[in-house]
Amino acid sequence: MKSFQGKIVINERRIESIDENPGSLIIINENTQSEFINAWAYPGFSDCHGHVAALGSKLNELDLSKCRSAEECIEWSLLNPKYRGIWLTGRGWNEELWDDKKFPDLKILDFYYPDTPVYLARVDGHAAWVNSKALQLAGVDKFSQDPPGGMIIKDKSGNPTGVLVDNAMDLVKKFIPKYEKEQLKELILSACHNLASYGLTQVHEADLHPENVKVFLELDRENKLPIKIKSYLSAQKDEWKNYDYLPSSFNNFSICGLKFYADGALGSRGAALFENYRDADSKGFLLIEPDDLYKKAKSGLEKGFHIATHAIGDRANSMVLHTYSKLIEDGITVQNSILRLEHAQTIRNDDLKFLKYKNIIASVQPIHCLSDAPMAEKRLGDNCKYAYPWKSILNTGGKLVAGSDFPIESHNPIIGMDGFIRRIPFDRNESWYHEERFSREEAIDAYCITPHKIFDDVLNHDNVQKGMTADITILDTNLETCSDDEIRKTKAIGTIVNGNIVFSDIRK
Ligand SMILES: [Zn+2]
Repeated sequence: MKSFQGKIVINERRIESIDENPGSLIIINENTQSEFINAWAYPGFSDCHGHVAALGSKLNELDLSKCRSAEECIEWSLLNPKYRGIWLTGRGWNEELWDDKKFPDLKILDFYYPDTPVYLARVDGHAAWVNSKALQLAGVDKFSQDPPGGMIIKDKSGNPTGVLVDNAMDLVKKFIPKYEKEQLKELILSACHNLASYGLTQVHEADLHPENVKVFLELDRENKLPIKIKSYLSAQKDEWKNYDYLPSSFNNFSICGLKFYADGALGSRGAALFENYRDADSKGFLLIEPDDLYKKAKSGLEKGFHIATHAIGDRANSMVLHTYSKLIEDGITVQNSILRLEHAQTIRNDDLKFLKYKNIIASVQPIHCLSDAPMAEKRLGDNCKYAYPWKSILNTGGKLVAGSDFPIESHNPIIGMDGFIRRIPFDRNESWYHEERFSREEAIDAYCITPHKIFDDVLNHDNVQKGMTADITILDTNLETCSDDEIRKTKAIGTIVNGNIVFSDIRK
């Protein structure tokens, strides 16, 4: 069993002894004893793909995810204005949830914000809705060309409509003032405490600009990070090469790898597909050419970095897997090199075989399947049979770890756990492509076991046991024996990192 009840004695960050005893959970650390009633302990939950600072801004910024139209977004922004410098910024709009299901345009923003530049990121972070003032400050007009890997959406007369996709977002985004260091530290800490309150003991920061590494290092040196953060540095434009960081571990913070993007997202039709989108005359586009990815990954691997590449469309996944296999076959990787396929969202059967390679790890977000299903059906039609292919990955002998891509989606790992096990999209009552569902054990492994085995290099780590680093998640439900309906209601009531209780919600 992976769910533990009984007594856990912790000493010097490690579990010194355990004594199984159904009915209660007692944690003893040096002179303190804490009892959790009706609770079960698990090896610490990991979220292997998220964006910590972005979660901090989301928790503290204008959030448009509940808005059901462009008008509602405006109303909400007027009620909750959030500024960076003179810019009004926000995130989370999703036209798929609106009646007209159409991208918004700049007219309505211009009406309410004629003189204030506005930048509102789409829910998936792969498109931005901006106004004329923002375009003007950025010098984007009808004569501007699409940058490689991006699109300035234009109307019939060639004028920008106010929606920028993928790399075109940067044309405007780079003019928004950055957070001050102290502000950023507060955002990161508020995110970390929130993550801990969902039982997460470890998260992987999936795109950290090297400029911000010093902020995490400072928080870690001050001993303020309640949970462990493994980071992957921005590398698409070789950003990491301008800094001296190498793979290294500190207290709760570590630098592990480099992050690349092979394509965009399905929602904004930026994911690279083999066939046309079912609802557009386009196959999406790659954000990096295979030769370039090979060269960039090679120079990272030679320094000991893990390589993590975002891949959503089947063409992007195929390209990344072929590139990874070439790196392995050319002897560029060593025994413990890690090549991560981030999202692994649509994979043709022919390409699944590459996941058998020991060095290749699929890093997936089950919650995407629950929210994306209706959109994915529109974009992919019956090619959805290749989408979110988690069980197929395991069946191939591949290794898989779980995450959420917070703050794009909720970071509550229980929702993802339920997604793995029941695979019932939020708008439905029945499982979607049910052959891809996980068993309880497989779902627990993806959150609690496999991430530690791969990234913490802990071999003997299949449940809560003696000798293990005391990173423990305490839940109010036994995930192995509860009914299907109870999974989604499960709550974290304790989070222990290095033996310290960093979150607890002990109920009587
Ligand atoms: Zn991400």
